[in-house]
Amino acid sequence: MQMTYVSTRGEQAAAGYSSIVLRGLAKDGGLFMPATYPQVTPEMLSAWKGLSYAELAYEVLRLFADDIEQADLKALCERTYRSDVYCFGREDSDFTRITPVRWLSGKDAEIGLLELSNGPTLAFKDMAMQFLGSLFEYLLARENRELNILGATSGDTGSAAEYAMRSRKGVRVFMLSPDGRMSAFQRAQMYTLDDPNIVNLAVVGAFDDAQDIVKAVSNDHAFKERYSIGTVNSINWARVAAQVVYYFKGWLTAAERVDEVVDMTVPSGNFGNILAGWIAKQMGLPIGRLVVATNENDVLDEFFKTGTYRVRDTAHTYVTSSPSMDISKASNFERYIFDIVGRDAERVRALWGDVAQKGGFTLTDEEFERVKASGFVSGRSTHEDRLVTIRDVWESHGVMIDPHTADGIKVARENKRPGIKMLTLETALPAKFAETIKAATGQEPTVPAAYQAMLDRPQRVRVVPADVELVKSIIREAVGD
Ligand SMILES: *Cc1c(COP(=O)(O)O)cnc(C)c1O
Repeated sequence: MQMTYVSTRGEQAAAGYSSIVLRGLAKDGGLFMPATYPQVTPEMLSAWKGLSYAELAYEVLRLFADDIEQADLKALCERTYRSDVYCFGREDSDFTRITPVRWLSGKDAEIGLLELSNGPTLAFKDMAMQFLGSLFEYLLARENRELNILGATSGDTGSAAEYAMRSRKGVRVFMLSPDGRMSAFQRAQMYTLDDPNIVNLAVVGAFDDAQDIVKAVSNDHAFKERYSIGTVNSINWARVAAQVVYYFKGWLTAAERVDEVVDMTVPSGNFGNILAGWIAKQMGLPIGRLVVATNENDVLDEFFKTGTYRVRDTAHTYVTSSPSMDISKASNFERYIFDIVGRDAERVRALWGDVAQKGGFTLTDEEFERVKASGFVSGRSTHEDRLVTIRDVWESHGVMIDPHTADGIKVARENKRPGIKMLTLETALPAKFAETIKAATGQEPTVPAAYQAMLDRPQRVRVVPADVELVKSIIREAVGD
């Protein structure tokens, strides 16, 4: 039987994996979800214990991507999940495992770091984005199409997208970044790429100016259609599904018995990462608690404590030292709520209508009981907590962690249950956030060897005014029109 996908707002006719992954939102403004969750059995989990990451990715993804030739999907997984792609982490990491677990000890016994940040941009987004690159190239060739990805970035997502899409056939990337406002490391990461299909545009202005250009181009439907404009943002189902894989890998590494429950803490922003954990749990993976760790932008922590979801306006969306979690609303959250309300699309439409009109909603008591029963708990971490945690993990364990992972460890410690292992997902490496690391430990983070050279390479970026028509003409020119 083929897996079909439905919209959280109910209006979309059922569609298959290949057709939804090249699209963003469903036509009714909802997000795509599998019509049912595939189930794994204890026998399957036992059999998967010894698999490599690529083999496991194939086993998990074939459950969602059953309209792709099995041999092709297998080849995509093997091409993506290679130890020479995920090899930029700490020198003593076991890169052959792709996502190794680093156990802490002493007072942090049974707490492990699930290393997800050893990919080319040193952040967990490479785990799914690299697969998306392989997948897009494959699907576009199959359909004889091209795709022009247009995005705006303040750092992390843009670089992950560029490293995933560089030199892919049929794909071009036009990435707008705020001129002069990214760290030296982030600039080097993006601007030293010299692949002809990657176009870096530094927009004079702030991130919002870059974002406004992307919105304006996307709202020009004729242009969007004519130039096959697409995005790779965190609501893309292929990214969510690819993230499910490392929850399985983490559990398979940590659990000694097939029924052993393992808790997981996830530094969260747009709720994309932890949503994949929820899906793994729904598939039958013995995850106990899913712990949401937020920074000062605590819209999710508030929700899991009170049942009220209250999006923040710009003035109340703080710039913090864990910047990839600085969100005002969590774009993947709707998928979880869809499950909580029993997949009642009408209820989801009403709730998101309230988000649009009143800036949020409060669940009924009965719905909130389901949230509490779902295994989610939450906590928040501040700049001070971050510094203390980075320093303490460094001094206690000799392990340097990045500010986002520090938010995770802080909240993981608060939620550690005796006798139950707790994996904390490591979402970035400290090399990306030298300033905060220095403030916390007095030391510069080590930069992976492969990255030293990058910092000195020539940079290629075109500085442009915040002008929609100019960006359109650059796209037209690149496409050869
Ligand atoms: C994107 C990102 C996050 C947040 O992940 P979500 O899927 O948006 O919840 C956390 N940490 C880092 C380093 C990130 O890049």
